Amino acid sequence: MEFTENPSSNRKSAEERAAVLADPGFGDFFTDHTVVVDWTAGSEADTGQWHDARVEPYGPIAMDPAASVLHYGQEIFEGLKAYRHEDGSVWTFRPHANAARLNKSAVRLALPQLDEDVFVDSLRKIVSTDIDWVPTGDGEALYLRPFMIATEAFLGVRAAREVSYRVIASPAGNYFGGELKPVGIWVSKNYARAGRGGTGSAKCGGNYAASLVAQLEAEENGCKQVLFLDSFNDNAVEELGGMNVFFVTKDGTLVTPALTGTILEGVTRSSVIQLAKDRGMKVEERKITLDEWRDSVASGDITEVFACGTAAVITPIGVLKNGEELIGDENAPAGEVTMSIREELLGIQRGTVEDRHGWLERLA
Ligand SMILES: *Cc1c(COP(=O)(O)O)cnc(C)c1O
Repeated sequence: MEFTENPSSNRKSAEERAAVLADPGFGDFFTDHTVVVDWTAGSEADTGQWHDARVEPYGPIAMDPAASVLHYGQEIFEGLKAYRHEDGSVWTFRPHANAARLNKSAVRLALPQLDEDVFVDSLRKIVSTDIDWVPTGDGEALYLRPFMIATEAFLGVRAAREVSYRVIASPAGNYFGGELKPVGIWVSKNYARAGRGGTGSAKCGGNYAASLVAQLEAEENGCKQVLFLDSFNDNAVEELGGMNVFFVTKDGTLVTPALTGTILEGVTRSSVIQLAKDRGMKVEERKITLDEWRDSVASGDITEVFACGTAAVITPIGVLKNGEELIGDENAPAGEVTMSIREELLGIQRGTVEDRHGWLERLA
């Protein structure tokens, strides 16, 4: 697919850009361009067409107020990062996994399939156009946010016949800010993120909307993130609002909740599983309940807990707050296995550790 180029006549100056890159934070600033590809349905279910692929100046989206994304939330997204290597080249991590996941989410949200190569090309386009925005600092990256929205103006409830795929990019520092300290996690007892047969395994905005009230509760209780459980059954651990969870046992096994349909399959999750297997660690994808977490931390059988996702990579979990109850230790240092897998993963991404699995793809 050919992309038309419509460069911005209003790019940020080198000084303005430098000021942003000095302290990018997360998700607050955006580059000068956006990539767009539109889709229009055909007469049959499978005859829709992607068209008008273009690079255009970053700016507001003109949309009809009746556009179905605004009413029924027909939207999906992805998140991945572009890393600047020592020699100035820019790479991303397992983009075909994100492309495949976007298409899986698209099936669930009744949105059209996007060719994986168009997805990867769209990342190449935005990164090569806005390459000066890719940060060079340690732990920094250009966060890429591809998303797909239903733009058709129509209030009847059905899958939209007009859709837009877009990519925006945002320079990113360290997600949780400052040095790496184990975080406190709040157990959500009143709210679920996803239910059986629902959209939990799709990356859609609606899941995040449903998690926000629990996130507010977490913050009121001094925690940075929420843990969602299957709290209407046996308190099986699912995941955080936007990160998967792992446990390290004292015999060196890595345990993570099995994908049951309510958990999002993280690219970081599957990479961590692979790296652990490469080290000869035993990996178990299975059910783990809140009771097992509590008992195994108390008995010393669980020695480390961490969360993982693209934005924050790997974050050690210090304490779990279950109402008044505390599981774990707020002041415990990050675990050794956690830190070692984190270093290896970050090293692969920044090009300082051998990429044994061919996970990196050059963007610019
Ligand atoms: C995106 C996301 C993750 C992490 O996925 P990565 O591909 O590792 O970034 C985990 N949980 C949820 C709910 C997510 O939306």
